[in-house]
Amino acid sequence: MNHETEYLVLGGGPTGLGAACRLQEKNLDWHLLEAESDFGGLASSFVDENGFTWDLGGHVQFSHYETFDRYMDLALGRDGWFNHERESWIWMRDRFVPYPFQYNIHRLDPKERDVCLAGLKAARDHQAGAHPRNFEEWMLATFGPGVCDLFMKPYNFKVWAHPASMLDYHWIGERVAVPDIGKVEQAIQTGRDEISWGPNRLFHFPKFGGTGAVWRSIGRRLPRQRISLGSPVEAIDVAGRVATTAGGERWKYRYLITSMPLNRLVLAARGVVHDDVAGKLLYSAAHVVGIGVEGRPPEHLKTKCWMYFPMSNSPYYRVTVFSNYSPNNTPRPGFQWSLMAEVAESSFKPVSRDAVADDVVRAFREDRLLPAEGPLSTKTYRFIPMGYPTPFLGRNAVVDPILRAFEAVGIFSRGRFGAWKYEVANQDHCFAQGYECVERLSRGGGEELEPTLFTPSLVNSRRNP
Ligand SMILES: Cc1cc2nc3c(=O)[nH]c(=O)nc-3n(C[C@H](O)[C@H](O)[C@H](O)COP(=O)(O)OP(=O)(O)OC[C@H]3O[C@@H](n4cnc5c(N)ncnc54)[C@H](O)[C@@H]3O)c2cc1C
Repeated sequence: MNHETEYLVLGGGPTGLGAACRLQEKNLDWHLLEAESDFGGLASSFVDENGFTWDLGGHVQFSHYETFDRYMDLALGRDGWFNHERESWIWMRDRFVPYPFQYNIHRLDPKERDVCLAGLKAARDHQAGAHPRNFEEWMLATFGPGVCDLFMKPYNFKVWAHPASMLDYHWIGERVAVPDIGKVEQAIQTGRDEISWGPNRLFHFPKFGGTGAVWRSIGRRLPRQRISLGSPVEAIDVAGRVATTAGGERWKYRYLITSMPLNRLVLAARGVVHDDVAGKLLYSAAHVVGIGVEGRPPEHLKTKCWMYFPMSNSPYYRVTVFSNYSPNNTPRPGFQWSLMAEVAESSFKPVSRDAVADDVVRAFREDRLLPAEGPLSTKTYRFIPMGYPTPFLGRNAVVDPILRAFEAVGIFSRGRFGAWKYEVANQDHCFAQGYECVERLSRGGGEELEPTLFTPSLVNSRRNP
């Protein structure tokens, strides 16, 4: 069947919904096609066979945008959220060190603490002459060898699943705490933890339904007739401006705003750029393992949000006490609790899909997140083939020309994997990317109307109206 619309949106995740919300506000002619049977994309949630609710990885809501906050309130109402103060920790050498690690080295053994402090000071003294060429060199120039060897290098390999020498560091901006040595020394003297740093110190989480409840609600508020769920687009005729779904529906558009992964777009919309560039876009996969347990969390996990794991005994880089975000993430709130682990995979860091869940449980017991033995109320596992868009060296030189070539033919690729820019790939950023893209197209303006995609450091450094 043939259809026609001015704005065709691909994807009902945060990016596509951001676009749809703005299109609807402006009363424009639009339609959204989503491959899956519900909204949310990577920010969706599911209930496992034992009634436990899970996100696809630990999602926390914090935002740089007033518009995003307005939609969050609309989605769940002001009372629909639990507000949390971040309590995040690093598990290392049989102890928890508060996050950010580099500010809290007073928690280490004196010998390791002194090595870390000496490295931090040396890095500070040589900072002016340092010209790091990649993330590995940046870490060393910023933190010195102690903090790097103990935490930064092993942790970052676990997260990115790529050697740090292959990564750029310009994405860092607000995401990594660059240490103030005065504060580090003060913490060593007083023994007081320094935990206030960071953009996500306060965050909130839906009372019911996990993170996915937000996007389901936003999706369902939009006019039903403008949305087709279960409609994956398989091919795009660039010259004719027609997108065809797996079911054979043909959608003619004037503008296509797509949040499907850019490497797949290249292959679905042939002829815009060379197929080979798809392979240059590096990414990592994510394995999510959820464990539910009867009773209440042990004392040392009662108030923790998430924990980082640089040590090699465990496969995971991060573990979330998911029932602390909302007790309703368990079927019997107050009588059960839950833990969620994330494990990254790439060709540099293979992970066995058959073994990872058992490996996580073994490491949970070893890291004392679970008792040494005892039954589990649930064990759930999800594989996310594309989890993190890798900020590889030379990324912008690969991505930007692709985005521009598509724009020239009316196709606007936006979002976490649509634009492949990790520094603007959270839910708030993605919603804003979709929203701003519509603003630009409908006003006939230029890149200045898309600050999130084109000036990430600016939007990340301020509160955006
Ligand atoms: C492990 C992990 C942890 C995260 N933690 C956080 C966090 O703590 N805080 C935070 O804010 N964000 C977090 N995120 C990021 C968040 O999930 C993303 O920002 C967001 O989901 C990206 O939105 P998107 O719309 O760009 O892409 P997606 O969510 O991937 O949505 C794209 C949508 O397009 C659909 N689609 C794809 N191809 C087609 C096609 N051909 N036709 C039709 N539809 C198609 C997909 O089904 C999907 O629904 C995390 C992500 C991961 C993986």
